[in-house]
Amino acid sequence: MGDWFQTIVDTEATSAEAQGLAANVLDWLIADGFISAERTDCVLGADAGHAPGTRYGEAVEDPDPELVNVWSNGLHVTVGRTVFDAGQGEPSAVTCPHCAAEMPLVDEHWSPIEETWARFEDAVGSWAEGHDEPVACPSCDRTAPVHTWLWADDYFAFGHLGFTFWNWPTLRPEFVVDFSRRLGGHRTVLLEGKL
Ligand SMILES: [Zn+2]
Repeated sequence: MGDWFQTIVDTEATSAEAQGLAANVLDWLIADGFISAERTDCVLGADAGHAPGTRYGEAVEDPDPELVNVWSNGLHVTVGRTVFDAGQGEPSAVTCPHCAAEMPLVDEHWSPIEETWARFEDAVGSWAEGHDEPVACPSCDRTAPVHTWLWADDYFAFGHLGFTFWNWPTLRPEFVVDFSRRLGGHRTVLLEGKL
């Protein structure tokens, strides 16, 4: 059994804002008992995170009493330019932000279509290092930076700030809306995946 995660990505926060916003949101989550204040070894892919708090159940659809017994049950905050992805699997399609042409990225056997993926892979791979490589659309010939393309199933989200909940049950939509409000009304993407 793999580990499941949900990441709320703020796609509008600038690199200058991210740290301050992260601190505000953590203050709120700790004060309201959604997470515990201590940073402990409870997340994957990072050294520490915040375990669920006494009122974590109010953030999710269907609270799981067993979550406290799962080692990887914490919240990890990522600050810094990052391409967040859904882990296992492949993005199924991508849509041009200019002409709305949708390009499949996998075939009927769910295998990546290499020639289409090749248009994007360098730009996706270098975005975190600060590049905004334009990608040309084969339908309309216009170019757009990779983070402005629309990725099916929210497979990728590009941003400077993300909150990853490890193994939490499905987050309640109201909780996610509250999150956006605490992030100054920024647009957020909820990305779900498995490792
Ligand atoms: Zn296009």
